[in-house]
Amino acid sequence: MNTYLNKRAQGIVPYVAGEQPKDKKYVKLNTNENPYPPSPKALEAYKGVNFSDLRLYPPLAMDKLKSAVAEAEGVSPENVFCGNGSDEILAFCFSAFFDADGKGAAFADITYSFYPVFCEFFGIPQVIVPLEEDFSQDLEKLRKTPAQGAVIANPNAPTGMGIAREEIEKFVAQSGRIVIVDEAYMPFYGQSAVPLTQKYDNLLVVKTFSKGYSLAGLRCGYAVGDRELISALERCRDSFNSYPVDTVCQAVCAAAIADGEYYREKNALVISERERLSKELARRGFFVLPSCSNFVFAKKSGLSGREVYEKLRERGVLVRHFQKPRIADFCRITVGSAEQNDALLAALDDFLS
Ligand code: PMP
Repeated sequence: MNTYLNKRAQGIVPYVAGEQPKDKKYVKLNTNENPYPPSPKALEAYKGVNFSDLRLYPPLAMDKLKSAVAEAEGVSPENVFCGNGSDEILAFCFSAFFDADGKGAAFADITYSFYPVFCEFFGIPQVIVPLEEDFSQDLEKLRKTPAQGAVIANPNAPTGMGIAREEIEKFVAQSGRIVIVDEAYMPFYGQSAVPLTQKYDNLLVVKTFSKGYSLAGLRCGYAVGDRELISALERCRDSFNSYPVDTVCQAVCAAAIADGEYYREKNALVISERERLSKELARRGFFVLPSCSNFVFAKKSGLSGREVYEKLRERGVLVRHFQKPRIADFCRITVGSAEQNDALLAALDDFLS
């Protein structure tokens, strides 16, 4: 260990992002990227950026981007926060709403694996609430913890399972504490809690341009909530980096979110491929969790998740598996284009036969 590292840097176990191997061209179904290109209007906005303007810092107020988000979400721009990917916003959430010596952040045992990393990083106690046997989440159990607040991924990752808006509302209303709903995969479910942010000042909804808007490479996310919550995020951001969203990103994302029609059409294709992929996997003897997302979580008895991952990788298809209790037998497979999904199924047939 490097002797110059402080104790915190020595102790952290960072989040591990999906691999990007360079040895050959893979069918990449391991990081839940959208198989379709961003909207042509986003491309126009990209080309419309004045290159010489890049000598200037990006617009601090992010007016255009925030207005476009507010318009699409049916809220006011003052209720919008934008950041460098939703991961960054989630980091700000953990630092803004949970105390190091407090009662902790409550979340599921099987959920986005960045949450425990943020807790470790900020020294926040973790209150882990196991999912049910069928991987559904009993929000009543989450509510009964003494935690300072809760973080819920909806749809959840890596299970892909969703919680209906009414259930989220009941939880938020009864909790009386901060509730962060991570809606990275909501474009594939359609039960967003954003409308509830007008009614409840303890609810913050975090979204991303990475999945539903096909802009993972640009790094932009946003949060919607009561003005007090947004201002808390701004305080954290301004203690860290005044300009997390660059000029190009602001312009492209504003154009993308204004082109809802394009994305609804493309995401509907992803949803119909998800249903086909789930059926095809089931036909091949896989147990597939009901997905509300742009990936499926599946296992086949007699095979570990690692084996399925390795056999597919040898055949040029990348999926993800997690060497963790309860889910080591599963693989998380991103829903690709019809051709990519066919390639995955062909690779599966090859090694299963
Ligand atoms: N939340 C969940 C549940 C995710 O799976 C991801 C993607 N890894 C993110 C947030 C972060 O997405 P991004 O930083 O690209 O906005």
